Amino acid sequence: MRKPLVAGNWKMNGSSESNKALLEGILSKADTFSDIEVALFPPSVYLQQVQSALTGTGLSWGTQNLSQFEKGAYTGEISASMLVDFGCKYVLIGHSERRCLYAELDLDQCLLDRIIAEKYEMAVRAGITPIICIGESPDEHAVGRTEEVVLRLLDTVIAHQGVEGLAHTVLAYEPVWAIGTGRSATPEWAQDVHSFMRQRVAKHDKEIAKNIRILYGGSIKGNNAAPLFLQPDIDGGLVGGGSLDADEFVKICQAAV
Ligand code: PEP
Repeated sequence: MRKPLVAGNWKMNGSSESNKALLEGILSKADTFSDIEVALFPPSVYLQQVQSALTGTGLSWGTQNLSQFEKGAYTGEISASMLVDFGCKYVLIGHSERRCLYAELDLDQCLLDRIIAEKYEMAVRAGITPIICIGESPDEHAVGRTEEVVLRLLDTVIAHQGVEGLAHTVLAYEPVWAIGTGRSATPEWAQDVHSFMRQRVAKHDKEIAKNIRILYGGSIKGNNAAPLFLQPDIDGGLVGGGSLDADEFVKICQAAV
């Protein structure tokens, strides 16, 4: 049985004060979704605040990115060992906003995928579970390249780390056209892609495919979460905007129970 996971990606939002209210709002209802796993991804400067608030509650936390290097002269970067230091259980890797907004577009696509695979390896070696984001752009979607894009990244990770690494990984299907647009994928569309991803992993290892959690991400809200989470291959969600309001996020978590 795969335990559902709902991950809240705060992106670059929040302040000490607003985080406090958000955390209190979520924690006040945490007993209504204690059967699932919930993890929060604040901006890194608020890691300590989130760690203090969530320690002992059963909720987990992580960062929105990590460096592919171990340590050294990499200004502005955060290493896997720093995440361990702050009790992180998860890390997001390859989020489309990183891919699209931070020079990564200028990189050759294969190099970009390799960097993501290296970050993945760093996280796995540190005992942190990577949540690898995979999804097609609006243009790729429009010309029917979804499966090709999803496969390219999955295969790069498997080639780099071996399929065994996926035993300690969460995948997130995040169609870029659905992120922050208010236009979620339909449950049927998302289910088809999730099933395709699971089958691809199964080609390498059936047991890992059966156990790996595949989250859906893209404009999940309290009012559309339930039908998505009911799909057999959707094991929870990666939630951006919907994780910034306590009531909304709690509704999403409850839909995964
Ligand atoms: C995300 O940031 O991963 C995301 C899915 O954002 P949103 O829920 O706002 O579409």
